[in-house]
Amino acid sequence: MSINLWKEAQQLFAGGVNSPVRALVKPYPFYTSKGEGPFLITEDGKKIVDYVLGYGPLILGHSPEKVRNKIMEQVQKGWLYGTPSRIEVELAKKIIFHIPSAQKIRFVNSGTEATMNAIRLVRGFTGREKIIKFNGNYHGAHDYGLIEAGSAVSEYGITISKGIPKDIVKTVLLCEYNDLTCVEKYLKEENVAGVIMEPVMGNYGVIPPKTDFIKGIRELTSAFGTLLIFDEVITGFRLGLSGAQGMFGVVPDVTTLGKIIGGGLPIGAIAGRREIMDSITPAGEVFNAGTFNANPLSMAAGLATIEELEHTNAYEISNEAAKVISQEVDQMMKIDHVTHRVGSMMQFFLGVKEVKNATEAKKANKSLYLNLHEQLLKEGVFIPPSQLETIFTSASHSQNVINFTIDKFRKVLREIKN
Ligand code: PLP
Repeated sequence: MSINLWKEAQQLFAGGVNSPVRALVKPYPFYTSKGEGPFLITEDGKKIVDYVLGYGPLILGHSPEKVRNKIMEQVQKGWLYGTPSRIEVELAKKIIFHIPSAQKIRFVNSGTEATMNAIRLVRGFTGREKIIKFNGNYHGAHDYGLIEAGSAVSEYGITISKGIPKDIVKTVLLCEYNDLTCVEKYLKEENVAGVIMEPVMGNYGVIPPKTDFIKGIRELTSAFGTLLIFDEVITGFRLGLSGAQGMFGVVPDVTTLGKIIGGGLPIGAIAGRREIMDSITPAGEVFNAGTFNANPLSMAAGLATIEELEHTNAYEISNEAAKVISQEVDQMMKIDHVTHRVGSMMQFFLGVKEVKNATEAKKANKSLYLNLHEQLLKEGVFIPPSQLETIFTSASHSQNVINFTIDKFRKVLREIKN
């Protein structure tokens, strides 16, 4: 039973969990014993439709056959060599083929490692120190990212994590998302090494970039010799094979990837222009290393996932699922609200009329959203336990599952009298 595991977990882990967002499921987190297509099966024997999908990686749903088989095949051959292996070359070639900004790549083990190293890389390459970051963007759990970050950081009311030296905080310049004037001001006033951004915000609910904002940032950074980092840990291979940069036609200097490129196993990657990437050790002097870098199991899962994305209608199905659900729910809601959807990413902001940045998103009715999450969960539908996360769909979300979900939204919205 989940309750028994939860009781034990509270003695074992800080706050009972190993990642804070998981503790937001009330009254206590359900424990999953199995993932199957669009479903989670809980330790309590419940079958739940999953719209969290591991917080993004599982675009094909849980345990898809092709990915599972490829992982099993790799397991037979061993899973850690400490030497290069064929499969890292194969996955790198795929990513470089699809992602416009990628000419070379370094595999690491998480999105956190990817952005931490990307920030070091742009500093090392330019010889400058300052970084521009956007309020509410989340780039992982390292010192340079945990300043006005989204996701669980903001959900728990942390603006700057304790433990970060003040001198580090001073190197990070904050702007509001979709505010080009702020970026221009800092680029003029300061010697900025890089701008790091989520090309679609996915850690403060979903907030798309205005076209002139995302294009403007590219133009401005180029003009000031500042490098542009797109953090595509969520959007990479979710918004199409070429990610957000393909969708918007804006090519950054450096891209960070994670989640989908590991098919549900731990992964991160830094990719970018050849001369920039060649600053990384051993070609250059920006240090990066990792016992588990390019781990064969993660490579296998990532390769199989991308092959599925290339050869099936996975994007069509997952995008359509999100489109239908977001449209239907949008019409059901009676109170002021904003519905945002980009591809298979969506979120609803309740009680507000416009959301173009984190400050506006913060004004949304958080407790009403949580109520929605809780009631849906009772009905067997799992949307994130925080307004600041993204609702994801996958290629495994069939018409039946979508109809079931819409019915449950209708029932719950009627009951909570939105
Ligand atoms: N960047 C973005 C945009 C993310 O959404 C996340 C995680 O959700 C990260 C970086 C950190 O990735 P990881 O959790 O793999 O460290």
